[in-house]
Amino acid sequence: MAEARPVLIAGGGLGGLAAALALGRNGFAVRVLEQAEKFAPIGYGIQLGPNVFAMFDRLGVTDAVMREATIPKSVLMLDALFGEEVTHIPTGPSFRARFTHPYIIIHREDIHRVLIDACAAVPAIVMEGGASVVDFAEDTVGVRVALADGRTVDGAALIGADGLRSAVRAKLVTEGEPRPIGYVAHRTIVPMETLPTHVGYREEVVLWGGPGFHIVHYPLRHGSLFNVVAVFRTATFADRLDPAAYTAEVRNTYRDAHPVMKTLTDMMDLGRRWIIADREPIRHWGRGRVTLLGDAAHPVLQSFAQGACMAIEDGVVLGDLVANADGDFARAFAQYQKVRLLRTARLALESRAVWDFYHAEGIARDVRNDTCARWRDEDLFRCLSWLYDGIEVGKLS
Ligand SMILES: Cc1cc2nc3c(=O)[nH]c(=O)nc-3n(C[C@H](O)[C@H](O)[C@H](O)COP(=O)(O)OP(=O)(O)OC[C@H]3O[C@@H](n4cnc5c(N)ncnc54)[C@H](O)[C@@H]3O)c2cc1C
Repeated sequence: MAEARPVLIAGGGLGGLAAALALGRNGFAVRVLEQAEKFAPIGYGIQLGPNVFAMFDRLGVTDAVMREATIPKSVLMLDALFGEEVTHIPTGPSFRARFTHPYIIIHREDIHRVLIDACAAVPAIVMEGGASVVDFAEDTVGVRVALADGRTVDGAALIGADGLRSAVRAKLVTEGEPRPIGYVAHRTIVPMETLPTHVGYREEVVLWGGPGFHIVHYPLRHGSLFNVVAVFRTATFADRLDPAAYTAEVRNTYRDAHPVMKTLTDMMDLGRRWIIADREPIRHWGRGRVTLLGDAAHPVLQSFAQGACMAIEDGVVLGDLVANADGDFARAFAQYQKVRLLRTARLALESRAVWDFYHAEGIARDVRNDTCARWRDEDLFRCLSWLYDGIEVGKLS
């Protein structure tokens, strides 16, 4: 028998919406509490690996996602100083043959819209904006959530899907702020027709890796937009500077980089920056009828472009385990944590190693480039199989 009281989800990001859809499709009443007035993502691009497609299949959204997605020809890594290729992962037919599903690039607004529409089509799911969760109390029969505007909301259980600076996590785990690594990111989208010709249109994800900095760029919305993310190490990561100071800092950081990277940084909107941070993996994500998912549970560096994929995997696994637990949320959440812990912790730890690989300097850079020159496609596929082969869903109990 499905529980009549709603499962409360703090946060309507990709993880929260995936969990809402998984639970709603399994017959549970769900109430998503989102702090923003409108459910709207940060409007930049996102890469999604093949492992997320079994989740989309379970959520019934694969076709809708693929209508908005682009499949790049490869993920190409270039040396940011001289522009030579370091390595590339082919993401065309051989990748599809190995991993069954595609590697895609998609606008966050589009994938978010797909999940919102799918949730809206399930009457048992309520999505509520302007609902900032600040506290909760739980007992053996339910949870009561406190919102910033003074309201309280009762539910059968609480899932904290409220991101890197999760308010739900802050009540569960005694720890400090997320671990900054001294890097920041700036993001920009421009119309493709404004792209200078010497940068050139490529239907690829391109990552330029340099000492203490990298840039990732790729096309979006079937080649009509160009998405750029510039990431670099800076001592001022925690300071709020004005755009002129950001511009001076970016120019200085990329002064020795390949000319194309200078063109790319000149195109950047430097009005807003994101501090890059993760957390040490932890064993316990919850207590009784309360748990965490996505960045709230296991934030990672962006090296594998997999944070959102993990959040979506979490949501689907939770949906299955709760459905199989006969109303015993505490048991379902304990199983969920057990099933998800090592995969997400591995991603967190390997992401740190790959971060260093992207930013190698001096002899380390020479060793990296020389080593990568010997890699064959099947070597790369084997290294990525633990991640891209994905997880089994539908058989969890
Ligand atoms: C520069 C950059 C590039 C990235 N690229 C990729 C990529 O290519 N592929 C990939 O898979 N991942 C990528 N990621 C990681 C990815 O963005 C995150 O892992 C993912 O968004 C996590 O999803 P989430 O739902 O857990 O959290 P979030 O997306 O952070 O969503 C949390 C939601 O909770 C809401 N919220 C916060 N606090 C409260 C509160 N107290 N009450 C109610 N609501 C609240 C927020 O408004 C938000 O809507 C990237 C990250 C960065 C910084």
